[in-house]
Amino acid sequence: MDRAVISALKVSLIYAGFAALWILFSDIAVNALIDGEGLRTLVQTYKGLGFVTITALMLLILVYRSGKTLQKVNDVDSLTGLFSLNMFIRSLAMAIDRKKPGYRIVLGYLDVDNFKSLNQRLGYERADIFLQELAIGIRNVSLPGSVVARLHADQFASFSVIESDFDVEDHALAFQRFFAHCAKRLDIDATCSIGVAILPDDGVSAKELMVSATEALNVAKQTGNAIQFHDKSLAEKAMKRRQMLLELREAIASESLKVVYQPKYDLQTMSVSGAEVLVRWIHPVEGFIPPDVFIPLAEEVGLTSAISKLVVKKVSEELDDVDLLGDPLSHVAINISATEFNDAAEMRALTSFILEKPSLAPFIRIEITETATLSNMKNSVDIISRLQASGLTFSIDDFGTGYTSLAMLKDLTVDEIKIDRSFVAELREDERSRTIVGAIIAMARSFGINIVAEGIETAEQLALLQEFGCLEAQGYFLGRPMPIHELIAHIENAKTRKDIAH
Ligand code: C2E
Ligand code: CA
Ligand code: CA
Repeated sequence: MDRAVISALKVSLIYAGFAALWILFSDIAVNALIDGEGLRTLVQTYKGLGFVTITALMLLILVYRSGKTLQKVNDVDSLTGLFSLNMFIRSLAMAIDRKKPGYRIVLGYLDVDNFKSLNQRLGYERADIFLQELAIGIRNVSLPGSVVARLHADQFASFSVIESDFDVEDHALAFQRFFAHCAKRLDIDATCSIGVAILPDDGVSAKELMVSATEALNVAKQTGNAIQFHDKSLAEKAMKRRQMLLELREAIASESLKVVYQPKYDLQTMSVSGAEVLVRWIHPVEGFIPPDVFIPLAEEVGLTSAISKLVVKKVSEELDDVDLLGDPLSHVAINISATEFNDAAEMRALTSFILEKPSLAPFIRIEITETATLSNMKNSVDIISRLQASGLTFSIDDFGTGYTSLAMLKDLTVDEIKIDRSFVAELREDERSRTIVGAIIAMARSFGINIVAEGIETAEQLALLQEFGCLEAQGYFLGRPMPIHELIAHIENAKTRKDIAH
């Protein structure tokens, strides 16, 4: 029998027993102690009234307490321990009432894509575990003070009060990253969609904000694995992004991306010792689109390896026609995104593509940035070691920024480190930048590896770097990125330049 029924029966029996005993013994006492029919009737009446009052009070307490328990059950989702829809709405309304001026409230919905089929594939038990893990993670990723709820089967919600300059997009990405990580850890093939609405832009009440977040979520769910803001301008941005992607694919397919070369100088001889290859996209309508704009886009959709292949092809064609490799160019550096390293098959394909060009391969140096995003350090180290064994050299780009991992240096013999240009830019004014640059140079030299400073824009920066013992440098002061025919002329001119100390 149900435990609730058993305890209800117990309470009723105890109550009936006490009531019967009370009626029996109080009647005997009244009959024995009180003389006179009139007085006895009066006492019996008050006794009855007292009994009813006490019973009513007990009932009141019982009903109140079970109501409270029921409310608690309704407020909390039994599977995940998160708030339920009702409690979430109440909390959101309360937060809106209490919000101080200058703050905003961001509401995000996270929904598992194709949960129905996932549920069938995994079985209910595993799907429940997945939802529980998601609940824990969503709570962890949410900002301190956020309210998190499970609204429906596979739909979670979180709201936070934020300052007006808070980077909501970045925060939404953190949820998406966490989801991917969680699914991967549990070996579940799943993605999620996220809809975001912000008060006051997308609504001023709990209801309006929730409607906006639902609308945004519905748009995100159309493609799946997406983040959608309710903000209309962001929707326009998303459309532009799709258009740009389409055109980028075309530009790659038609090989209309170009390459330019930025000279690298040996700081002892002050002559050109190498060159960095930078990709260029001249859009037929928009004109120059910086790689900082389209490379991250290419990374998101896995287009970087196609770009790298095209870059290597162009470099190989252009350098085949001139006599620069070996002397003066001891190496030609190409940029490879960390995301490419995460795909071992793509990396193998690119490496064999490079190695198919025996006149170029020994001079190729690979610059990799954002090493912290390498998903599997051991794999990456293996890939890089194999590249090195094939004769390619390897450089860590943008060294010293938050994205570079020092651990990389522990596990790997790199050939070169490039000091990020943000440190070089602050060399003169900022004592700390000077200390960092000095330390990186000393570290590289003690490892016996090449050290390059990038972004040199003034003679003063150049002199300081020479003083620190930096081996190579690159920057607008020495030479801008240029097409191959200009590079040839530049190398010639460099020999007689007076503004740099030979
Ligand atoms: P990066 O690898 O750090 O490349 C150096 C960037 O700094 C280049 O910008 C270059 O033009 C710029 N630069 C060079 N000297 C100076 C200077 O003195 N002052 C200043 N302010 N800037 C200087 P660019 O060409 O716009 O490239 C930006 C980033 O795009 C690159 O940064 C690299 O991460 C990425 N990138 C460029 N080409 C490729 C490519 O073929 N493949 C991949 N995966 N990424 C690329
Ligand atoms: Ca680079
Ligand atoms: Ca760099």
